[in-house]
Amino acid sequence: MSKIISLCKRRGFIFPSSEIYGGFGSGYDFGSLGVEMKNNIKKAWWDEMTKKQENIVGLDAAILMSPKVWQASGHLTAGFADELVECKSCHKRFKADEVKGKICPECGGELTKPRKFNLMMKTLVGPVEEEAATTYLRAETCQGIYVNFENILNSMRLKIPFGVAQIGKSFRNEITPGDFIYRTREFEQMEMQWFCHPKQAKKYFDFWKKERIKWYQNLGIKKENLRIREVAATERAHYAKQQIDIEYKFPFGWKEIEGIHNRGDWDLSNHSKYSGKDLRCFNEETKEKYFPYIIETSAGADRSFLAFFCDAYQEIPGGRTKTTKPTKEVEVLLKLDKKIAPIKVTVLPLVRNKFELVKKAKEVYQLLKPHFVCQYDELGSIGRRYRRQDEIGTIFCLTVDFESLKQDDLTIRNRDTMQQERVKIKDLIEVLKEKLED
Ligand code: ATP
Repeated sequence: MSKIISLCKRRGFIFPSSEIYGGFGSGYDFGSLGVEMKNNIKKAWWDEMTKKQENIVGLDAAILMSPKVWQASGHLTAGFADELVECKSCHKRFKADEVKGKICPECGGELTKPRKFNLMMKTLVGPVEEEAATTYLRAETCQGIYVNFENILNSMRLKIPFGVAQIGKSFRNEITPGDFIYRTREFEQMEMQWFCHPKQAKKYFDFWKKERIKWYQNLGIKKENLRIREVAATERAHYAKQQIDIEYKFPFGWKEIEGIHNRGDWDLSNHSKYSGKDLRCFNEETKEKYFPYIIETSAGADRSFLAFFCDAYQEIPGGRTKTTKPTKEVEVLLKLDKKIAPIKVTVLPLVRNKFELVKKAKEVYQLLKPHFVCQYDELGSIGRRYRRQDEIGTIFCLTVDFESLKQDDLTIRNRDTMQQERVKIKDLIEVLKEKLED
């Protein structure tokens, strides 16, 4: 993990938040490459849900909602509080189910009995503090979908079953943030809520379980690093009738990256009760009035980011190219899927002290820039530059060499095979588009 964290910082994927002030809690900022990569993950998820799958529409709800929403959802009462124990000596808190025995794992002090601790982040809304209303930063994006259920159903003329997809920030006052961006207090979720007849809930639960695992695999995550964990009734979220976690084998162990929940009618029936608005559906044919069940797929954009990154990270001792004098250097290859990789193409003049080469390479860069996320790099030897690009997962390096000046072409180097082919500059955009497509 320490190598991954340092690569993330050095190459502009992820920085610690407020670093010049000594950092802030478990916050992180996504750098220039990080934001490209995270956007790619979110786009791949959005396209999967709203384009590939049937009958799913989007939503972007507000982060601040009426506090009544959180009463109805159960977040302010029973459910959304972790059982915690505190060390009487160093005052560190731990999740009760994570410590065995009564001794503090940090300092050996005595632990308190477990107590509840609410994870919702409070804030004040209104300009005058004394009169301001207390509300909360949302702890999950899905409540925005439930309270808009009727709006979406009517405005989009939908029929059960259908889904609503949303990507956005959520906030939880986690007691034990850590493992880099794995557990933070501010994070992004990619959630899809599938509304269906109660009798079909089991069928759709199984359907979405398969689809979601496939999504990670199609984007390059190795099969052996993914598994499904059935969550026992005693461990489930307060709203869940059935729950599985999709887990990834991180360097710090098998951990959840996505939860799939059968939320039953918990949400719509509670929002009906608390708001006084009947959110039941009516089936014209059977004359049945019922609360649809909700199957939820809830993924973390940050946790998926970390899983994609860890899975793609490879170290090659001695380097990737065979030379007569073997180097001892370890080379890093970030074998990200072409959809996820932040930089698709980098343009390199073979050497930088030849004016014509640099001029031509810059022209190619300008040509490609509007079409692909693209870099230009002229610093250092060509081998060193290829390694720099391999380390950030760039799919293709385009090298302008002396031949290019005569032939109006260049070489395309494939990151994974290191094979090079010559392509005419006039055909470049089309060739690259084709290569970068599915
Ligand atoms: P955990 O048991 O790890 O606390 P959870 O079961 O509470 O997670 P859910 O409420 O099911 O998580 O949230 C769905 C997804 O949102 C998780 O699978 C994860 O990807 C993401 N997520 C939840 N909490 C965090 C967090 N603190 N930091 C980053 N991502 C998170």
